[in-house]
Amino acid sequence: VKEYDYLIVGAGLFGSVFAHEMTKLNKKCLVIDKRNHLGGNVYCEEKEGINIHKYGAHIFHTNDQRIWDYVNQFATFNNYINSPMSLSKGKLYNLPFNMNTFYQLWGTRTPEEAKAVIDEQVAKYGTKSPQNLEEQALSLVGKDIYETFIKEYTEKQWGKKATDLPAFIIKRLPVRYTFNNNYFNDRYQGIPIGGYNVIINGLLDGVDTKTGVDFFESRSELEALANNVVYTGKIDEFFEYKYGKLEYRSLRFENELHEIENYQGNAVVNYNDTEYPFTRIIEHKHFEFGKQSKTIITKEYPEAWDQGKEAYYPINNDRNQEIYKRYKEESLKLNHIIFGGRLAEYRYYDMHQIIASSLAQVKEILGLSSNRG
Ligand code: FAD
Repeated sequence: VKEYDYLIVGAGLFGSVFAHEMTKLNKKCLVIDKRNHLGGNVYCEEKEGINIHKYGAHIFHTNDQRIWDYVNQFATFNNYINSPMSLSKGKLYNLPFNMNTFYQLWGTRTPEEAKAVIDEQVAKYGTKSPQNLEEQALSLVGKDIYETFIKEYTEKQWGKKATDLPAFIIKRLPVRYTFNNNYFNDRYQGIPIGGYNVIINGLLDGVDTKTGVDFFESRSELEALANNVVYTGKIDEFFEYKYGKLEYRSLRFENELHEIENYQGNAVVNYNDTEYPFTRIIEHKHFEFGKQSKTIITKEYPEAWDQGKEAYYPINNDRNQEIYKRYKEESLKLNHIIFGGRLAEYRYYDMHQIIASSLAQVKEILGLSSNRG
């Protein structure tokens, strides 16, 4: 008899939710992570009494009552509303594109005036079948919004000219004809009080965990410990890259401590212009309305990805989708291994989607086992 029912590779949200649910059902789980901490990309590191979002700013939002109730079992959420600013051509603007932005950009005071400007620019600069990201954006929102907020930011993000990027990267560019700076449309939003570690610790309470353990460094010993494996690492790595390497976009974070209480007056400020090599500055204390005497900011630099770096965003082109499909087919043949989460599914997921996907996975297993009687 093996010691564990499940070996869970990766202590991110997917693995932690899975472990929590299975533990409630009296299944024995061991969660390992190669990093020296639990939590995966939602992990927060405390410095100067401030929770630093170590792998990028995370704002929880969802429209799904069930997922909201689920996370509220583990933490109390504050009333943070994401309202980023954008520094563009030397001026600060509100995001997302709304009546405040249009007033700052054109001085338009009514929805009718703003809409007239956008419609006129779309008619003048748009095309019927956009062939690249630039044409797509011009066709959706016109020249001023594109040039002020999208062109340079996107070029920094992807390290490519907007005219060399595919149109599908931007499917929609929502514009809001109300004075509303709330970035998300979801009904529920906030930051867990005490940071995301509070949720992870709650999920993994009573679960065996080991950090600093790479699955591939002692694969056979680890697999021997459990009847089943839940794998949330990179799918190509699992199959030893036999169909090729999947590509990602990476990020580099530079933290700065400032001996002042308030650096930029907002948690998120986008830096649109090319003269800044970073795309945003995050001032973490504002996520939790912090009153500390010092502040820590993080400059976020988009980077090319290679093997030694963190893989952040999958690059969804035909080549990668084709390779992923082959790994996916291979993974479906392995009955005792479950592949889940953003790296194993080579997909961008928001936190609420990852939780839903992990819960669905548990449900599917339970359905299968009860069908088998
Ligand atoms: P991860 O958290 O990446 O967990 C996978 C874990 O597996 C990692 O800890 C890794 O170390 C471990 N692992 C991998 N390989 C091995 C191995 N061989 N051995 C042992 N361990 C291994 N979502 C939102 O809802 N709101 C936001 O504002 C938001 N902002 C984001 C900002 C950025 C920059 C990024 C990149 C993502 C953001 N997300 C946001 C998405 C969110 O981070 C993900 O939905 C979530 O963290 C994914 O959880 P996961 O468990 O799938 O993956």
